[in-house]
Amino acid sequence: MAKKSKIRTPIVCVMGHVDHGKTSLLDKIRGSSVVSTEAGAITQHIGATLVPLDAITHMSGALSKVSVNVPGLLFIDTPGHHAFTTLRARGGALADMAIVVVDINEGFRPQTIEALQILRNYKTPFVIAANKIDRIHGWRVQKDQPFNKTFAQQNERVQGILETKVYELVGKLSDLGFNSERFDRVSDFARNICIVPTSALTGEGIPDILMVLVGLAQRYMTESLKVSADGPGAGTVLEVKEERGLGMTLDLILYDGTLAVGDEIVVAGNEEIIETKVRSLLKPRPMKEILIEERFERVRSVTAAAGIKVAAPKLDGVIAGSPLRVVRGPNRDEVVEQVRHEVQDIQVTLSDLGIIIRADTIGALEALSKELEGHQIQVMRAAVGPVTRHDVIEAGTIKDPLYSAILAFNTPVLPDAIDTLADASMSHVSIFEGGVIYQLIDDYVEWRDAKKQ
Ligand code: GDP
Ligand code: MG
Repeated sequence: MAKKSKIRTPIVCVMGHVDHGKTSLLDKIRGSSVVSTEAGAITQHIGATLVPLDAITHMSGALSKVSVNVPGLLFIDTPGHHAFTTLRARGGALADMAIVVVDINEGFRPQTIEALQILRNYKTPFVIAANKIDRIHGWRVQKDQPFNKTFAQQNERVQGILETKVYELVGKLSDLGFNSERFDRVSDFARNICIVPTSALTGEGIPDILMVLVGLAQRYMTESLKVSADGPGAGTVLEVKEERGLGMTLDLILYDGTLAVGDEIVVAGNEEIIETKVRSLLKPRPMKEILIEERFERVRSVTAAAGIKVAAPKLDGVIAGSPLRVVRGPNRDEVVEQVRHEVQDIQVTLSDLGIIIRADTIGALEALSKELEGHQIQVMRAAVGPVTRHDVIEAGTIKDPLYSAILAFNTPVLPDAIDTLADASMSHVSIFEGGVIYQLIDDYVEWRDAKKQ
């Protein structure tokens, strides 16, 4: 028997417009643990949920004949494209794949478009969940059933409405430059984006979306998912938290190698790079054991991909989003340098002449700058944090007034910056604030083009 190469669990992020069903979809996936007694159990990790392949194939009822060696899917529990851009691994996105949730009755909204632009810029494979199919008037619910089974139970009128709505999505995606098709008509995942009709409320289509994700990982990513299971661990810090009895802890997504108690680790702090030693590794206890006093279960080691809590000395000041690396052997200085690089390495192309951009995290800043690059808008300076007085002065002195603008993405403008902006000498400067990248860019372009005339 040919030995299958070891492939780690791909990491999945859920994105989409507010209220279109991201949280409900994640809840539904988590709650599908009814199958857990017979098939592999869906387990709660720190900050993530692991759905093993057995559970997926069990739900979908029919195991596809292709040999699948992706072990399952690890869903990041925090949905949204902010999570996607903030959670980074080696300068790119931590998530290997994404689900973009669209309310099939509402169609595309600003954050749907933004999610798609971000995924395009990061070259991240994704699937569309055309959600809330149960809201189509006359829909007959077939709880937790795969799409083909529930679709066959609908009358012709309802089937027609669903088809029309799916084609509206196909049209919108085409406007944005994506080829797409209902998933059961897609034969080449590389050429077409799959649209899976779902209901996060009734569970219809959920097995299919999980199978499509497994298929995507299998076709696209088997190379990038290959790991040396016993290699030194690499991960991304989700959160830094004080826990009773444990002191300061890190909630970590481990995306490569192994992390064990006693390992020397390197993480980035506010002021400096921190080197310390893992004291304990903790997993949440399964639901049925919730009565047990201790909330966490101690483990000796974990292998990627996994969500795990790390307790260690000296964790004060570790920044959320920081990389974590295990030191094995004599390469300590190298690892410290890697971590330092990763936190500083904002992939933004800067020009002598350009606008100033601000965002709340490194990832958000990079997402904004990538989109600006696509619009051929030059950036002179890019920084994390609120807009300062200094930013306003700098924007005011730029030679070309068409660049006298500051884009503030998800970050406030400090009071003294507002005061400075009110100054008569700064009347040609504008600050654009917002939480949707392409609207920020649209606002700036409109302002700039008005100035040009
Ligand atoms: P989010 O903002 O994208 O996380 O959206 P939520 O998951 O919070 O969902 C917003 C609302 O839509 C909630 O009231 C959900 O119960 C409802 N909802 C989500 N998915 C579905 C679905 O598939 N069908 C129906 N009927 N309602 C849904
Ligand atoms: Mg939500």
